[in-house]
Amino acid sequence: MSVTFDAATLANAATRALRAYDPGHDLPALRRRFGADLVELGSNENPLGPSPQAIAAIQAALSGTFRYPDPHGGALKAALAARHGVDAAQIVLGNGSHELLMLIAQCFADAQTSVVFSEFGFAVFPIATAAAGARAIRVPALPREHATMPCGHDLDAMSEAIVADTRIVYLANPNNPTGTWFDDEALDAFMTRVPATTLVVIDEAYAEFMSAPHLHSALRLLSRHPNLIVTRTFSKAYALAGLRVGYAISSPPIVAVLERLRESFNVNGLALAAAEAALADRAHVERARAWNESEREWLAARLREKGLQVYPSQTNFVLVDFGDDAAPIERALFARGVIVRPMGGYGLGHCLRISVGSRGANERLLAALP
Ligand SMILES: *Cc1c(COP(=O)(O)O)cnc(C)c1O
Repeated sequence: MSVTFDAATLANAATRALRAYDPGHDLPALRRRFGADLVELGSNENPLGPSPQAIAAIQAALSGTFRYPDPHGGALKAALAARHGVDAAQIVLGNGSHELLMLIAQCFADAQTSVVFSEFGFAVFPIATAAAGARAIRVPALPREHATMPCGHDLDAMSEAIVADTRIVYLANPNNPTGTWFDDEALDAFMTRVPATTLVVIDEAYAEFMSAPHLHSALRLLSRHPNLIVTRTFSKAYALAGLRVGYAISSPPIVAVLERLRESFNVNGLALAAAEAALADRAHVERARAWNESEREWLAARLREKGLQVYPSQTNFVLVDFGDDAAPIERALFARGVIVRPMGGYGLGHCLRISVGSRGANERLLAALP
């Protein structure tokens, strides 16, 4: 008897609609090929590296790795609660904030509900929506010709797109891959227009880099809006991307729901220790913010001198508009060992997303550009 076995047809409806994550280039292979000459500007990592205190905390925690980690992450939560002026019962820890963005949809969305997010919003939002089997409502972004925020979130259109079955709105502020942001006043107005039955998730992966006027964390709105969830990560400004730690801050009832589906040991012991130490080293993250801001503006100025359009950014990357298909430029950079992020998958094929690297890396990029 011969039976063809086709696992894909056995997958549930939501999973059938998904494709595996495309991680882009094979970086381990490229590191072997180019060695120290490889310039990695594709993943928004912080080239200054983590706090030395975080490294020391990892080393001190190594001998304890035969034990399971604290399933509650109590020490890290207490430190986060003190830092943000919230209660520990308002915090959920995640294996990166990506996991939390998925968990929120798993817990609150389903085939009877819809989820609103922006065109050019963070790539995880449509995946979380599809994985929950929910209907995606993708709202057009601000136009490419917009004077101040090209391709940014259009909060007015997003609030109008909310319908009775909309359970979640995902926003990223600042946004990846555009680098754009919306200010406090726009968010305040938006929140007053969202019904209490719709959760608002604000992904603040780049919050520690923000310095624009009238741009503050949405954490200030938590006491007024129990339907608000703010997500943060240790992957970007804290430079701990390899350890996978993120967190969400919300109201205790939302946290209690998320805790039902959170895996008990989702954040490992080394990551818990490192994140707590990194959080305590305020001077290190402030140095990262200040250095990133000046280096980003230096890089943006050099790119503009080449006649390229550089979108405004409050992050550690810039979105660069080449006006025409950017794929040949990406390939030319790649051939010279310079990795940047192509944007075709986002519908921004004329753009490349370029992380702010060390001065040496940025100079290599500039030299490799036509
Ligand atoms: C990088 C990034 C994340 C998160 O990452 P984790 O490493 O999973 O914490 C989340 N949101 C945005 C917008 C990002 O750019």
